[in-house]
Amino acid sequence: MPEGDSVYRAAARLHEVLAGQVLTTGELRVPAHATSDLAGRRVLEVVPRGKHLLTRLEGGLTLHTHLRMDGRWVLFRPGERWTGAPAHQIRAVLGTERGTAVGYRLPVVELLRTGDEHRAVGHLGPDLLGPDWDPAEAVRRLLSHPGRPVAEALLDQRNLAGVGNVYANELCYLAGVTPWTPVGELASADRLVARAHQVLEANRLRSGHVTTGDTRRGHQQWVYGRAGRPCARCGTTVLTAQHGTAPQDRPAYWCPSCQRGPAPEVRSGRPGAPGRRAR
Ligand SMILES: [Zn+2]
Repeated sequence: MPEGDSVYRAAARLHEVLAGQVLTTGELRVPAHATSDLAGRRVLEVVPRGKHLLTRLEGGLTLHTHLRMDGRWVLFRPGERWTGAPAHQIRAVLGTERGTAVGYRLPVVELLRTGDEHRAVGHLGPDLLGPDWDPAEAVRRLLSHPGRPVAEALLDQRNLAGVGNVYANELCYLAGVTPWTPVGELASADRLVARAHQVLEANRLRSGHVTTGDTRRGHQQWVYGRAGRPCARCGTTVLTAQHGTAPQDRPAYWCPSCQRGPAPEVRSGRPGAPGRRAR
């Protein structure tokens, strides 16, 4: 699952190559739109909305794509061989004289009227990297279900748009609570939302998802992906378990000393059921 800052960068790269250009190729290799040919239309802009990408075209059309787990857009120079993945994984091709954007394994490829974009992205909460970021509304939405585990609430794009599982875990660490802590029990939801904005903003223009301030490989996160290793702050072993409900469950990472709140029992590295108070 990409984080909002990765999608933001993907949109910026696509915009740089495509915006203002007339499409020489415009193929959508998905059943619903297999017969649409977008060639001849000018690309107006490519904008991110949370983790969604909107490619706006002349004539009031928008190509809506989403990367989900492992979709990606790769840019190639004119005449360059497409080496992103096997050809059968290609879902969209947008070619211009300046270069070609090839969308691999995109789980969402949808062509809609630009005036109907709300159907694709209208459910999203305030966009952390959007021009209309609204922290008060994000807090209001987060707290509308106060019993919800904080990591799950952060990942729900209807509350605020842009947080993926790396940041959900790291924000829990920075707030000093476990991922299973009810969002209504946070000392300050305002501070959590402000931090979410701060970390995405800080990583908007660089690769990697740095929350520690240390850009060295292996030092970029406090707990994410660090199970079994010592917490950088206190030395306690970082634990892992799944959070959320299948098939939406994802790995959680936390330091049982730095983070308070409910957590599953973890014995010999095997997680049990959530519910126990860590301290
Ligand atoms: Zn710790």
